[in-house]
Amino acid sequence: MQDKKLLKMARRLSDPFRVENGRKFRLKDADPGDTLWLKKADKERAKEGLRAGVEALAELQDRLYAQDQWAVLLIFQAMDAAGKDGAIKHVMSGVNPQGCQVFSFKAPSAEELDHDFLWRCLKNLPERGRIGIFNRSYYEETLVVRVHPEFLARQQLPPRLVTKRIWEERFEDIRNVERHLFRSGVLIRKFFLHASKKEQKKRFLERLDDPEKNWKFSAADVAERAHWDEYMEAYEDMVRHTATPEAPWFVVPADNKWFTRMVVAAAVVEALASLKLHYPVVSDAKRKELDAARRRLEG
Ligand code: ATP
Ligand code: MG
Repeated sequence: MQDKKLLKMARRLSDPFRVENGRKFRLKDADPGDTLWLKKADKERAKEGLRAGVEALAELQDRLYAQDQWAVLLIFQAMDAAGKDGAIKHVMSGVNPQGCQVFSFKAPSAEELDHDFLWRCLKNLPERGRIGIFNRSYYEETLVVRVHPEFLARQQLPPRLVTKRIWEERFEDIRNVERHLFRSGVLIRKFFLHASKKEQKKRFLERLDDPEKNWKFSAADVAERAHWDEYMEAYEDMVRHTATPEAPWFVVPADNKWFTRMVVAAAVVEALASLKLHYPVVSDAKRKELDAARRRLEG
């Protein structure tokens, strides 16, 4: 009963932000400050809701691990200071570390540049029974690399392969790979934490003002901010071309951290629940083995 209620709430919170057919998607329709029916005053209740979600997630993960059939891949993309790290930290806080792996993808190394653009990510896919998190991903190849042509130049691609269709080709390759993964038992959920330019400025200033947050500040982030509009176009195009039923995007409002975290937790709970996970059924032979073991222990 409790579970059903929680699942219903998880859907109510995540469905409005789910995009699985990108064709009609417009970023300007997505409000970074949206909090659905919740007000700032509901923040404490929302935090309680998050706790309930995190608990449910821990139980679902235990079943995922025991059943050992599906893997779950969660991809996070966002502009700087949109709250990826915090969302990952809070949403995954209850799960068993043995069943969860986080990978962060930064500017590629020389070795990584010597391979195709999917290589470094595909090498780190979660195993069956586990949750894998990509903090940034191959989607950077259609974002930062698109905004900065010099990064594409560094990839040493044969010139005749670099045409004006390259982004569309990358989207197509990504769609195909994600469909392949789904067909192999990897459930994918993608999160674009969508913060406003104004909120980013506020968070950068906090990083400058608060000594405990100074370490998070990087002057390069301010330089990237100058390309805001180009990034937004690239993000919109990314969602339009890669949101599919098997690998939907969640365009999550990110101006209110408490709300962002709740929506992400809700979407992950919903995703795991959709797998109808159950503990492995004990076979008759296994049952006999267990009974025999009990007799030996007791005898
Ligand atoms: P984050 O910015 O994700 O919170 P961080 O500040 O610890 O993490 P950075 O050193 O800023 O790490 O690394 C992330 C940077 O790497 C981002 O600016 C991102 O655009 C860049 N990056 C990621 N993938 C690629 C890529 N394929 N090509 C070029 N740059 C990339
Ligand atoms: Mg950074």
